[in-house]
Amino acid sequence: MTVGLGWPDTVEPSDGPLGWPEQQRTTSAPEPVPNEGVVSRETTPEAADDQMATRTVSLGATHSVAVEPAGVQAIGKVSVSEGDVSRETPPATVDPDLAPEVVAALQPGQPWPRPKQRRVMTIANQKGGVGKTTSAVNLAAALALHGLRVLVIDLDPQGNASTAYSLSHKTGTPSIYDVLLGARALAEVAVPIEGIPGLWCVPATIDLAGAEIELVSMVARESRLKAALDALDDDVDYVFIDCPPSLGLLTLNAMVAASEVLIPIQCEFYALEGLSQLLNNVQLVRSHLNPKLYVSTILLTMYDARTRLADQVAFEVREHFGDLVLDAVIPRSVRVSEAPGFGQPVITFDSSSRGSRAYLAAAYDLAVRGERGVV
Ligand code: ATP
Ligand code: MG
Repeated sequence: MTVGLGWPDTVEPSDGPLGWPEQQRTTSAPEPVPNEGVVSRETTPEAADDQMATRTVSLGATHSVAVEPAGVQAIGKVSVSEGDVSRETPPATVDPDLAPEVVAALQPGQPWPRPKQRRVMTIANQKGGVGKTTSAVNLAAALALHGLRVLVIDLDPQGNASTAYSLSHKTGTPSIYDVLLGARALAEVAVPIEGIPGLWCVPATIDLAGAEIELVSMVARESRLKAALDALDDDVDYVFIDCPPSLGLLTLNAMVAASEVLIPIQCEFYALEGLSQLLNNVQLVRSHLNPKLYVSTILLTMYDARTRLADQVAFEVREHFGDLVLDAVIPRSVRVSEAPGFGQPVITFDSSSRGSRAYLAAAYDLAVRGERGVV
């Protein structure tokens, strides 16, 4: 964090082991019970799938997920044939036990509840590659496909959200950069997304990389995005701001503009490191710049049911954050990673894939929480 870029004064993080703040922590993940034949998969899904013929997946009482040889007592069985085109993770916890009314609500075209007021959500985690962009584009698409009006703001000079929606983001394209510099309004640069009515995206170009420097000398440098959003009188239900993997001035602008922070947490080792710094920054912004800001949502991403580690991370995150964690867990899925290459969110690219269904369930959960006013 660079204080000179407009962040309020630093508060010393009080990291516990793994980077957790000490307070609120109640219990740690239980020790996995040694189980003969339990294998913790560490390979990539592709490599693991290549080795896999038929497997039995067990959700043990110790809350760990492991891949066991056939014959071991198991709750669910998954058959994966070699050569399957869509090589997905087993469905062990991908689809949580959904109530029948939820299953009905997830059907295409079912209208979802509108929030009482516009929800502006910053998707932030300074750790790179945890699924910020993937979550932004898919949650937004899911909400739009169920009747809500959604705006995605690509606030990352990498322009990944723009790519995911097949938008041009070469230098000179009207973008969020022009908005931050005060040259254009958000409504002028928002582009409707083809095939998904009700969804717009403000693209980012590489020019944005220079904006952090250019903004430093500007008036109200940390609240320029907020000013632009306040000026947007369109009837938008949700705004998702896709942040870069850093805690610079762009992320600060996002936190000042939003009232909610959604943190995607990858179910991998190192996932929890740096989290207390992120939480401290949210606290700083709330104390000094935006009293409305709070962490409303945690989304577990890239869950690989074949690893015990993924389950341990998920367990710890739920222990620590409780109800903030959405029930739906996004599985590590080849289809999710393929979708941006086709300029589409996985929600439309392959609506029946596990990743798509998980994002749909997560988005519905968001919508229901918004309606209940719990956020
Ligand atoms: P950055 O910090 O660089 O902005 P990010 O946090 O936005 O990264 P993404 O770009 O969403 O992360 O994801 C990183 C990579 O992981 C991408 O290649 C994406 O396609 C892939 N990916 C994201 N989610 C999944 C998933 N559930 N299964 C498989 N691959 C995924
Ligand atoms: Mg990203």
